[in-house]
Amino acid sequence: MILTRRGLMALAGSTAALSALPVFAQDKGTIGIAMPTKSSSRWISDGESMVKAFQEAGYATDLQYAEDDIPTQLNQIENMITSGVKALVIAAIDGTTLSNALENAAAMGIKVIAYDRLIRDSANVDYYATFDNFKVGVQQAESLVKGLKERFPDVKPWNVELFGGSPDDNNAFFFYNGAMSILQPMIDAGDIVIPSGQMGMDVVGTLRWDGAVAQARMDNLLTSNYGDKQLHGVLSPYDGLSIGILSSVKGVGYGSGDLPMPIVTGQDAEIPSVKSMIAGEQYSTIFKDTRELAKVTVKMVDAVLGGGEPEINDTSTYDNGVKVVPSYLLEPVSVDISNYEEVLIGSGYYTADQLK
Ligand code: BGC
Repeated sequence: MILTRRGLMALAGSTAALSALPVFAQDKGTIGIAMPTKSSSRWISDGESMVKAFQEAGYATDLQYAEDDIPTQLNQIENMITSGVKALVIAAIDGTTLSNALENAAAMGIKVIAYDRLIRDSANVDYYATFDNFKVGVQQAESLVKGLKERFPDVKPWNVELFGGSPDDNNAFFFYNGAMSILQPMIDAGDIVIPSGQMGMDVVGTLRWDGAVAQARMDNLLTSNYGDKQLHGVLSPYDGLSIGILSSVKGVGYGSGDLPMPIVTGQDAEIPSVKSMIAGEQYSTIFKDTRELAKVTVKMVDAVLGGGEPEINDTSTYDNGVKVVPSYLLEPVSVDISNYEEVLIGSGYYTADQLK
């Protein structure tokens, strides 16, 4: 049961008691939180952290997951609007399909925060809370190069394949472009080759960030291009893809005998990938502290609903096709075997037991 302030006053029978009471959920209205899927643990953490932080700030929450189905997410958002939420926090599945719903939200005075993923093609996005997505890509490429130098110091050029995220997620382009800002000059200099020749988000994108799709593509790349060549590295933008890619390369013998595992990157520090890193398979991941993103978002919503201006630190990067959305960018952290304990366990994000 959620107690309202009025209910407690009646219980306490005096206003004097009220000032000593904490602020209870529902006092400040309900916030609709639309998350893409529970198939990736990061979104579960995002949802949990937000519910907790919103409740502490005095809001009730309506948290919904859409299992990566676009019509389901649209339906959930429309229901939240009809039920009169004060604000919407949305991590979109497809960032381009929400324009009509958000027009209705704006007409009802509902504030909209794009969460982690930019919502495109709509004027009705008030703020954007995310990580520095270009930097995520830079860090992925830097760690790929660090790993190549460590594991294959005498090889030149290194044979690398590229994977991108979902082309309907604006972030995927930032990750890819960030990574290519490091890798393209090395390709031009002949330090890295892409034996398949497959480059560019239109070719290397992975719809819905689906690990099975990445695994099937890696199988094909190996069959068609690596008969007489060794694969040294794979740029993978997300842990769920990295797991698929690693299964594929293990399937043809990498990581055993005299065929070392290629360097495979990732993102989100999901438990299976951290365990894979500890086991010497996945090389690295990018940690994005979802607890911090949740905090920033709750502060943003609270400021806007209180009639104030939320803190932002970027007003130029995220043009959604209609407007530049004022944003708050958090810092991603590159993680590999050398610092995972300090970053992931030291920060309390995971316990040592969870990684065993
Ligand atoms: C997020 C990443 C995540 C990916 C797949 C992106 O929008 O920024 O953290 O790995 O979606 O869920």
